[in-house]
Amino acid sequence: MVKFEKEPKTKGSILVVCAHSDDQVIGAGGAMAKYAREGFDIHTIILSFGESIRPYIRREIIAKIRIKEAQRADKIIGGKGVTFLGLKENHFEEEIKKRGIDKNFKRIIRRLKPVKIFTHSSDDAHPDHRATFRIVLRMYKEMRLRADLYTFEVWNLFNIKKRNKPKLVVDISSTFKTKMKALKAFKSQIDLSTFYNYLVLNNFFFFIIHIKDLLNGIKHNTRYAEVFYKVG
Ligand SMILES: [Zn+2]
Repeated sequence: MVKFEKEPKTKGSILVVCAHSDDQVIGAGGAMAKYAREGFDIHTIILSFGESIRPYIRREIIAKIRIKEAQRADKIIGGKGVTFLGLKENHFEEEIKKRGIDKNFKRIIRRLKPVKIFTHSSDDAHPDHRATFRIVLRMYKEMRLRADLYTFEVWNLFNIKKRNKPKLVVDISSTFKTKMKALKAFKSQIDLSTFYNYLVLNNFFFFIIHIKDLLNGIKHNTRYAEVFYKVG
């Protein structure tokens, strides 16, 4: 007799909110892939299309490329989908209050009922990353969410500031390769302007991420790890 396996039940959803289309993978890609394998539904909300990095290309073209790349990376990681809010960079907090985006954002969160939320840290070097943190924290408070709220690092990779927030260390040794593969989906972020940039800077970027996850791993007695801080 053939026994049909039941469709595995989801353990709940996890929401990742970030400013640009590759931040989630840089900051939490290993953990996202791991949680997906464990049976969580991973959803990502990206606030902008990141059009300012290539100002000479039309916004709609950039948006299309970014959406495709983010979807490809999401598939590699095992995520359940990516939503772009299309906010203008450097103006997230004014923009989100326009055109009912704020309401829409809340509606998405209410529908997903996430058990965990991940976003940028409050002291990231990039102003849009900090703005993303403030928006998420405001939503979190206004909606009185019960989810655990964690922050990840993107452009403060070597932040050695002591924090008294509780830490969440995720051993990503089993998903580190998946994270790197997902990162490579962001081809438009790879700088092809000169051969030097292509060869040196891009490899340096992957190298930095590699080193960060490796150091976090060594510090926590494993090969690779991502570290998050619980802020809510
Ligand atoms: Zn970013």
